[in-house]
Amino acid sequence: MLSLLRASRLAHSYQLQAGKRGLASASAGPGFVNAVGNTPLIYLKTLSEQTGCHILGKAEFQNPGGSVKDRAAIGIIQDAEEKGLIQPGGTVVEGTAGNTGIGLAHVCRSKGYKCVIFMPNTQSQEKIDLLRMLGAEVHPVPANYNHQAREYAATLPNTIWTDQFDNTANMGAHYLTTGPEIWEQTQGKVDAFVCATGTGGTLAGVGKYLKEKSGGKVQVWLADPPGSVLHAYLSSGGKLVERKGSSITEGIGQGRVTDNLATFINDVDGSLTISDEKSIVMLYQLLDTEGLYLGASTALNVVAAVEVAQKLGKGSTIVTALCDGAYRYQSRLFSKQWLRSKELYDVIPDHLKKYAVL
Ligand code: PMP
Repeated sequence: MLSLLRASRLAHSYQLQAGKRGLASASAGPGFVNAVGNTPLIYLKTLSEQTGCHILGKAEFQNPGGSVKDRAAIGIIQDAEEKGLIQPGGTVVEGTAGNTGIGLAHVCRSKGYKCVIFMPNTQSQEKIDLLRMLGAEVHPVPANYNHQAREYAATLPNTIWTDQFDNTANMGAHYLTTGPEIWEQTQGKVDAFVCATGTGGTLAGVGKYLKEKSGGKVQVWLADPPGSVLHAYLSSGGKLVERKGSSITEGIGQGRVTDNLATFINDVDGSLTISDEKSIVMLYQLLDTEGLYLGASTALNVVAAVEVAQKLGKGSTIVTALCDGAYRYQSRLFSKQWLRSKELYDVIPDHLKKYAVL
């Protein structure tokens, strides 16, 4: 695990880089890059009325690659360019099964890099096809896909391994863009930010920016799915337990403190675990009452936002991330058979069951 000293050095060095680059939210660049960010902040009306609070969701699903990870993909590649680690015509390699690969594949096309993705061979054909349609070379492998990505990158010239978990340019992208956007969109009237972590880039980058801008007043809460160890880590004062259990959410949950999260973990104000039962009901409710068709990590984030709102009391303003849409998961999340196999169909209220059409 990263030492605290190293974590604080990383955060400091990131701040310096951010300052030097002077990047703003609306950075100029080729098509895809220029279209990422500046996402709307959506007022979740029904939940706000129910809680007497302002529950706001940052619409990251509106990024052109479809998720919050577009920002990290750009941040990591721009950082490598600025450090001279990759030159025109170079190759970008990552081990990923999901949104980061999609974001990287888009950025690579827009900047003329080759994109190589290693992923577990258990992933759906749709994901492999999508990455290939975006021009990536995909290697489905039986195990250790991240390790294989690193090894492969080391053998080629003009090639970077993007290392999303421990490359702090990831959290830096959120520090430079998502955090400032939320601060501006709320005009600084924000009491808490809460979200789950995969790499921890979103939580650490947004959290760090909002804490700095508010002089520490904005609370930052971490939300865990079942099978993640970070809630236990935070509530035990820093003990890492073994991962147990699993979740229907994808892209979130962690077994360790990544370097991205380590830059901020000491400033996290509180944490929660959210059950799959609560997440799936929220997923259907968001569709029914807000017209939003969102993925399971987003549903978990919104449940957590409601719980933090209840802790902070009426009138408080809570922001969370709406990470991606349901489109990439619909054959599961809207299938009766799949929901039954996870013992989740019966927890969906009767008036919402009509949405489980598959
Ligand atoms: N939700 C989804 C759907 C994701 O793909 C990810 C990234 N793996 C996250 C949330 C978490 O974001 P981060 O990596 O910034 O913690």
